[in-house]
Parts: sequence; C-alpha cells; structure tokens
Amino acid sequence: MPSKEAPVIWWLRRDLRVNDNAALAAALSTGQAVIPLFILDPVLLRSEASARVNFLFAALRSLDEELRQRGSRLLVLRGEPAETLSAFTHQVGAAMVFAEEDYSPYARRRDTAAAKRVPLTLTLGLTVHHPAAVVKADGKPYTVFTPFSKAWKALPASGKPWQAPTRLPEVKSDLFVQPLPEGAAHPDFPASEREAQRRLNEFLAGPAAAYQEDRNRLDLEGTSSLSPYLRFGLISSRAAVSAVRGKISQADPADRGGLETWLNELIWREFYQSILYHFPGVLREAFQPGMRAIRWRSAAADLAAWQAGQTGYPVVDAAMRQLTGMNWMHNRARMIAASFLVKDLLIDWREGERWFMRHLIDGDPAANNGGWQWTAGVGTDAAPYFRIFNPITQSVKFDPHGAYIRRWLPELRRVPPEFIHQPWLMDLETQRQAGFVLGRDYPYPLVDHAESKTRALQVYRLRGGA
Ligand SMILES: Cc1cc2nc3c(=O)[nH]c(=O)nc-3n(C[C@H](O)[C@H](O)[C@H](O)COP(=O)(O)OP(=O)(O)OC[C@H]3O[C@@H](n4cnc5c(N)ncnc54)[C@H](O)[C@@H]3O)c2cc1C
Repeated sequence: MPSKEAPVIWWLRRDLRVNDNAALAAALSTGQAVIPLFILDPVLLRSEASARVNFLFAALRSLDEELRQRGSRLLVLRGEPAETLSAFTHQVGAAMVFAEEDYSPYARRRDTAAAKRVPLTLTLGLTVHHPAAVVKADGKPYTVFTPFSKAWKALPASGKPWQAPTRLPEVKSDLFVQPLPEGAAHPDFPASEREAQRRLNEFLAGPAAAYQEDRNRLDLEGTSSLSPYLRFGLISSRAAVSAVRGKISQADPADRGGLETWLNELIWREFYQSILYHFPGVLREAFQPGMRAIRWRSAAADLAAWQAGQTGYPVVDAAMRQLTGMNWMHNRARMIAASFLVKDLLIDWREGERWFMRHLIDGDPAANNGGWQWTAGVGTDAAPYFRIFNPITQSVKFDPHGAYIRRWLPELRRVPPEFIHQPWLMDLETQRQAGFVLGRDYPYPLVDHAESKTRALQVYRLRGGA
C-alpha cells in the first residue's frame, strides 16, 4: 500500500491545460499532492517540425505560469518516456500516475510500456467521446463520416467543462529537474490557454455566424484558427463542443447553420482520431486496399517545385508559401495544394503528408493523414478519385479578388485581376506594364491541368495493373 503522503504524478503530453483536464481532476481526487510532469521525448524532439516543437515549448512555459499562479509548478525531464517516468515515480515515491489517453500508434506503444512499469491511469480528453464508444451496433468502427457523426451526436452530452481550482498542491522544491525548454514564440500563435479561450470566444461571437459561407474563402479570416490549440490540448475538445452547443441552443433556427457546420468540423476531428485508433495502418498505406497499387510518379524536381511554391499555379503556390511562411494553411488551401500534388503531379500522397507534418504547427497524425487520404481518394469516406480539383476554378471561386494570392506571392502583386489566377495568359505587353516577366519572376505552369487530369484518371483506373 502506498503511504498516505505518497504524491501522485500528473503526466502531461498533448493536454497542456489546467482547465477541463480529466487527468488533473483525477489526480486531485486522490487527495494526495500532485506533481505535474512533462517528459521531453528525444524521439519526438528529433523531428524536423521546429514550429511545432517551439509551440510545444512555449505552451509548457505558459502552463508553468498557470500552475505557479495556483501554487504549483511544472517539472520537466528529458529521456525515454517509460524509463524516465518509472525512475521518477520511484524517486518521489509516487503512488499513481494519471495521463490523458492519446490514440496514435506511437503514443499507445509508449503508454503500454509505461503501464508495465508504473501504475498508470489513462483518462478521456483528447476527444469528447472515446473512439471505442462511437461504434456500430455490432461493435465495428464507422468508416464513413455521416453515420459516425450521427452516432456521435446521439451519445449523451459530455457534461460541462471542468474548471481548475484556484489553488493546487505545492510541489516540493528540492526535486531535481531540467529547466523549462526555450524556443522562439510564434508571432501568429501565442501558446497559452488564455489565447485558446480568447480565440474560441471571439470566433463564436463573430465569424461563426457566417462560417458556412466564409469558411471556404481563402481571402477571409472565416475560421477559428484554433487547430494548434486543439492539437496540443491548450483547450479541450469538450470545451469547444460545449461552447458551440451552448450557442446553438440560444440561436434562432435561421442562424444555426454556421454553428452546426463548425460543430461538424470538430466531429471530423474526432472521426479521424477514431480512424487512426481503429486502423493504425493508415499511417503506412491507403485505407482502401484497392488503392494501394497506384503507380505514383517518382519526380523529385516536381516535388521540390510544389514544396517551394513554384508550380506556376498561383493558388497552389500561395498555399504552399503560407505553409512555410506561417506554419499553417487554410483548409481549402490544404485541399487544393494536396490535390495538385496527388492528381496533377501524380506524386504519392505520403510525400505531401510528410511535408505538411514537417511544417504545420497544428500537424496531427490523425487529421493530416485523414486529409491526405481523403484528397487522394484512397481513404475512408474519400472523395471519389475521379473528382479532380481544378486549381483555376478553385482559385476564382475561393479567392475571387486574388487577395490571398497577392498576400503570399509578392511577385504577382502587380498582376492585373483578370490574370491573377492564370498569369501565363498575359501577353508580353501586359507583362511589361505589370513590371513582371513570366519565366523569370514567376514560373510557367509545371503541367497543363487538362492533360494531367486525363493522366490521373488513367493511372487511377489502371491501379493494380488492370
Ligand atoms: C491535406 C490536409 C491536411 C490536414 N492536416 C491537418 C493537421 O495536421 N492538423 C489539423 O488539425 N487539421 C488538419 N487538416 C484539417 C483542417 O485543414 C484544419 O484543421 C483547419 O484548417 C484548421 O483551421 P481552423 O482551426 O481555423 O479550423 P476551423 O474551421 O475553425 O475548425 C475547427 C477545428 O475543427 C478541426 N477540424 C476542422 N476541419 C477538420 C478536418 N477536415 N479534419 C480534422 N479536423 C478538422 C480542427 O481541430 C479545427 O481547429 C488537414 C486538412 C487537409 C485537407
């Protein structure tokens, strides 16, 4: 039996918040002292995704401040998680460890290893409903979004978000730990729980009403930009869902469309978490077995042009420059850029998935994989492969004045509006007037969309050598 004074450990991973944190609530409910611990995992820190690592570090510093205001503090250790946790648990004589369950294959292996060495209790929080709770009557997982969302919505509401107490147990000062990690703060994404809450409130009070129409517009700020905060748990999914449901219940029926659509996006997030939980193999291969034999092109120069935002299709290039410029990309832009890589360049979607994971501040294995497989037409509930985005019509429709293009492609700022979506149509005189030379200041299109569409359809049809 652990002694009465034995502390318990609150092991944080991607739930970097004090409010609505079920692992913290469970740790506190033991009545013992609670030690908040984060373990810097060298495997994850080796990643090239410096924007995400820096966001994580900033979130840890902010969390430490939140804890200090409540009389506690964050301890940070570095090392292989199960081993480090086990050594620390013994060092402090902790009786139990509480952590929020994470569903990625890596996280599940890590937690299985940890549970063999310490008494680990996992709590629900990464999603509102556990993936094992949103299943068909026969217990099988859903692989199509609409029935998943219906089943998700039919489950009993998840209750009100839990508020952290104003005082937390003190942490003994003689514990040896690492200093909090330093890293550059991101100018567009201040990493704090308060900022997450502010974004949620601001979005629900304003853009949410027109979300149904505006969410696809590349030139508007019509979405919540909460993704990195949900990714690292600076706000719980339950808090976001509960807030939007509260708004829906107060809104006139005619005004509910935007709010309902936003709730659906939060459910898409849960859907992809559920897919990864039930089908971890999606990180390696297409969900649809019939789509695993597509003969992708090996085209290093085309891939490099796509990565650099130099394909000659302005909307694709603006999207790719937004990715490297601010480590975030608009959802419509993600679909357009992804579709271009897969369908127009016929390059394996996993190349794009990797590139996005490297640069996205909200890079999440479940959502990113889901988005890529969907766009490639090879995943669950995927767009049919023969529906191929036209980058020009997408651009005209969702960036009608070219404001998004001009923001991310300074070389096209002086291009007249009638050519902004297709600068290759400019004659020499128009180029001269715009102070711009095609082929020098901006590339000719890498492919002809009509031809590449025909090629993609052929290759998709021939998959498996049929
Ligand atoms: C190819 C591709 C890759 C993607 N990679 C990621 C990723 O790595 N991480 C990520 O969080 N999202 C990813 N998405 C989904 C979506 O693009 C982003 O969640 C969204 O653009 C984030 O902006 P927002 O916070 O303003 O979203 P909002 O429109 O305000 O939506 C609210 C929240 O719902 C969730 N969400 C919205 N759309 C989706 C979706 N289609 N799938 C899953 N969750 C969704 C996000 O958590 C988002 O923050 C990807 C989409 C595609 C097509």
